[in-house]
Amino acid sequence: MTQAKSNRTGLPARVSIHGGHSGEFCRHAKDRLQEVIDAYLQNGFEWVGITEHMPPVDPRFMDPDDVNAGITLKQAYQRFEQYMTVCRELQQKYKAKIQIFVGFEIETYTGSLEMVHQLLNQFSPDYIVGSVHHVKDILFDFSAEDYAQAIQRSGSVENLYCDYFDTQYDMLVALEPAVVGHFDLIRIFDPHYRDRFENDAISNRIQRNLELIKNLDLIMDFNVRSLSKGADEPYISHNILAKVQQMGIAVVPGDDSHGVDTVGRHIDEAIQLLVDWGFNTDWRKPS
Ligand SMILES: [Zn+2]
Ligand SMILES: [Zn+2]
Repeated sequence: MTQAKSNRTGLPARVSIHGGHSGEFCRHAKDRLQEVIDAYLQNGFEWVGITEHMPPVDPRFMDPDDVNAGITLKQAYQRFEQYMTVCRELQQKYKAKIQIFVGFEIETYTGSLEMVHQLLNQFSPDYIVGSVHHVKDILFDFSAEDYAQAIQRSGSVENLYCDYFDTQYDMLVALEPAVVGHFDLIRIFDPHYRDRFENDAISNRIQRNLELIKNLDLIMDFNVRSLSKGADEPYISHNILAKVQQMGIAVVPGDDSHGVDTVGRHIDEAIQLLVDWGFNTDWRKPS
């Protein structure tokens, strides 16, 4: 990212509640974690939540890039252990310059709940981001082909959305993660998602999940990674964001960075949008 601090006047503080993936601990990201944190510092972020992906519980849930590289389950777990250690060290090292929260992003599939509990017990992260990247155990956000397969498994696009929001609901009840990651990620490969959200079965589930988020007082990630992938709005989509705003749910920008070059990318657009919508920009911290 290239904007200098001096180019932005009057905008609230730059923060990111979801991101900081690095090539050091995630094969589909780039750069070392310290370089990523340096980039946040250089771009004037006030605080940042580092939320690497949790390790897989089963070989079939391994990152496709890890599979190609021949990484074992045990190695993936050890890499995560190393991540928690290094991230805590950097948190200490940088504490006078930038506030770092040490977290991780969870997965939601068969067996993930037990693994998340184990990780919470072993590592006591500052917080977790509750994400859903799988429906009926199919990773749907990696490629359009996978998305098509997920539609087949659910029976229709509408059913896929319903299954996604049901899965998300159960995960939120079970874990009460401080942050809800990219709430409507399920729209990712669907050009007709705006109409889809108007479907009664789907919109009822969205409403139900938002009420749960409100009751549990969770923070929603306003995730701009979609903009880097060609979408014209972040997750949360505008029509859902209107409900979120009315309900008074806390929303905080997340750049979902996967290397130095995506640190802060589109974050000012997200902040400006939240300002325009009248959200509280005294950003809630994740812990
Ligand atoms: Zn990732
Ligand atoms: Zn994610």
